[in-house]
Formats: sequence, structure tokens, C-alpha cells
Amino acid sequence: MKIPFLDLKAQYDSIKPEIHAAIQQVMDSCAFAGGPFVRTFEKQFATFCGCDHCMGVGSGTEALWLTLLALGVGLGDEVITVPNTFIATAEAVSFCSATPVFVDIDEKTYTMDPQKLEDYLQIRLKFGASHLTPRPKAIIPVHIFGQTADMDSIMFIARKHGLYVIEDACQAHGAEYKGRPAGSMGDAGCFSFYPGKNLGAYGEAGAVTTNTADLAEKITILRDHGQTKKYYHERIGWNARMDGIQGAVLSVKLKHLPAWNRARREKAMMYNDLLSGIDSLILPYAADDANHVYHVYAVRTQQRDALLKYLADENIYCGIHYPVPVHLQTAYSNMGVKNNNLKVSERVARELLSLPMYPELTDKQQIRVKEKIQEFLSI
Ligand SMILES: *Cc1c(COP(=O)(O)O)cnc(C)c1O
Repeated sequence: MKIPFLDLKAQYDSIKPEIHAAIQQVMDSCAFAGGPFVRTFEKQFATFCGCDHCMGVGSGTEALWLTLLALGVGLGDEVITVPNTFIATAEAVSFCSATPVFVDIDEKTYTMDPQKLEDYLQIRLKFGASHLTPRPKAIIPVHIFGQTADMDSIMFIARKHGLYVIEDACQAHGAEYKGRPAGSMGDAGCFSFYPGKNLGAYGEAGAVTTNTADLAEKITILRDHGQTKKYYHERIGWNARMDGIQGAVLSVKLKHLPAWNRARREKAMMYNDLLSGIDSLILPYAADDANHVYHVYAVRTQQRDALLKYLADENIYCGIHYPVPVHLQTAYSNMGVKNNNLKVSERVARELLSLPMYPELTDKQQIRVKEKIQEFLSI
């Protein structure tokens, strides 16, 4: 039995006729770049996220980048985020000529620790307030693995210090915090529809959600070369439009997303039941007020690398999210360590192992994963 880490084919097979019909419609109307299929999806996704506005863009990375640009983040600004994320969160900051700054995560949820955020801002208020040093301007909490960050605490701290909040919701389509959807709590929410995400396109795509009309308008202009009218350019923008085919595919898949997210939660509960007897394994923690959508189901063990290899030899394929925290990546090695207290992020990067997780995963597969983990740990 081979158990892949992801099974995009199984999902495609389950919705093939709908997908083909939707793509055929785009082909027939030749609305390939932006256009009506993208606009329809934007309306549907805004509603899904409980937001007034949604702007489709080319990727999650562009969603983050254009949002920062639209908020006026640039040279001389700091943007505070966490190191245990996909590098795009920090890259978007760097591509605005701003400086990413990292604060540590909570050891249970793996999301930004609000106390560490507040501590950092207090230190900056005391010692860092000079016109020569960058100023904190925005915070990007990451809803890592499909669980929202502690948004009430983060929003409270952000408002106290006059900072913007951009939710990196690239792994959290449909997740909720105290009943509020991911992407609806900060100034903006950024989503990726990379094929492997809970809501994945058949190519690259992303979106920004917001309740602020002014921000929505700025992003709409920025993603289309800064133009308000064809060939009349108000500011320097970029080509960051979503493809028509991706809009049509995403509209079809969005209808299935609630059921797929429910299935992921059921698979997570099943793993929890199966694995709870194994003492040396730390299972994912879902906060009471979070509706976790398990983009990733990650366990922790000090024998992570050996277990990964053992399972791969048994045709069970796992992932590591992420092996190197962003502040330790070669790409960021010139930053100088501004904030040395990132021990939790560094520790979990050595211990986290992502097990196979997708709505189509079968009971049999999950039982086999458990048996092989048990076998390894009892050697
Ligand atoms: C996937 C992802 C991104 C980037 O999205 P792309 O669509 O691949 O550009 C950003 N942040 C996080 C946390 C992600 O998981």
C-alpha cells in the first residue's frame, strides 16, 4: 500500500465533470486573464470569508506583497511576523524594501505568541525609537497548518501600537476563530490557491480579502499595472491578475470546501484517537475557540528524521513544515539577528513531522500510518 503525502488526483477524479464543464465555459468565452469568471469567484469567496471585498491575484505571495504595498509599507518600515512559515511571508516584506522581524511562536498552537509580540514592541518603544532605525508598521500573523492565530490578543496589541494586521491565511481557508472566518479579522487576509492548499487551483492563484473599501481599490489597481482605465496608469503597479480558468475552477471547488474541511477534521480526530496512546509523540493542539481545518496534521518527535525515513521506506510519505525557520535561511543570513529569542520555532523545526492528510485519505491508510509509527518507536 502506497500512501502519498497528498493525493490531488483522487480529488480531481471526484469532481471531473464539473471541472471540465467550467473550463469549457472559459474556453468558449475566451475570458482568460481576469474577467467574469474571476469576478464571480471573488464575490463567492468574499461571502465565504464574511468580507465585503475579495481581489483575485496570481498567487499567495502576490496577495501578501500587494497588500503591504497598498498599506504603504516600504523602506524604513518593519513588519513583524513569525519564523515558522513558508518563506513567502517574509519575501513579500522584503520585496517592499521593508524589513521582516521575527517573534517566537506559542509551543502548543505554533502560531504567533502575543506576549512575545508585546515584549518586542515594548523593547522597541524603549530603545529603538530613532529616526535612523526602521519603525514597526504592520504585523503578519500566520494561521499555520490551518489554525488561526490568537487574533483578539494580536489585534488588541496592534491597535494599541497603531499597526496594521495582515492575516497570512494561505493555509486556513474556512478556518474560524471564535466563529469569525480567517481573513476577516485583520485589515486584510491573504490566501494562496496553490494546488496543494485546502482550496487549490489547477495552477497558481491567490486572493486578498478585506472590509476596507479604500484598501480593496488600491489592490485592484496595483494588480493591474496601476491602471484605473485601460492604458491610463495612476501609479506603478504590476501584472498580478488571476487567470480566468483558475477563477472558474475555484468557483467549482469552493462549493466542496466545507465538506472537504469537515473530512480533514474527521481524519485529524481519527489520527488523534489512533496515536494518543503513543507517549513519545506530541499530537496537534487545537484551541477551544479555533475551528482548525488541518491543512497540515503535524506530530512532534525527537526522532523526526529517522521516523520520516522509516515511513518512506514503507511507502508512507510525510512532509516537514518547515525544516529551516526563515531567520536561519541562507537567503536571510545577511539580516543580522535582531531578535535572538526564537527558541520555540527552532526547536519545533527539528521535531515536526507532517503526516499524510487530505479529505480522500482512507481509514485503512490511517491505520497503516499508525501501525508503522508504532513499529518504529518500539524498535
Ligand atoms: C503557500 C503559502 C504562501 C504562498 O502562497 P503561493 O500561492 O505559493 O505564492 C504564503 N504563506 C504561507 C503560510 C503559505 O503556506
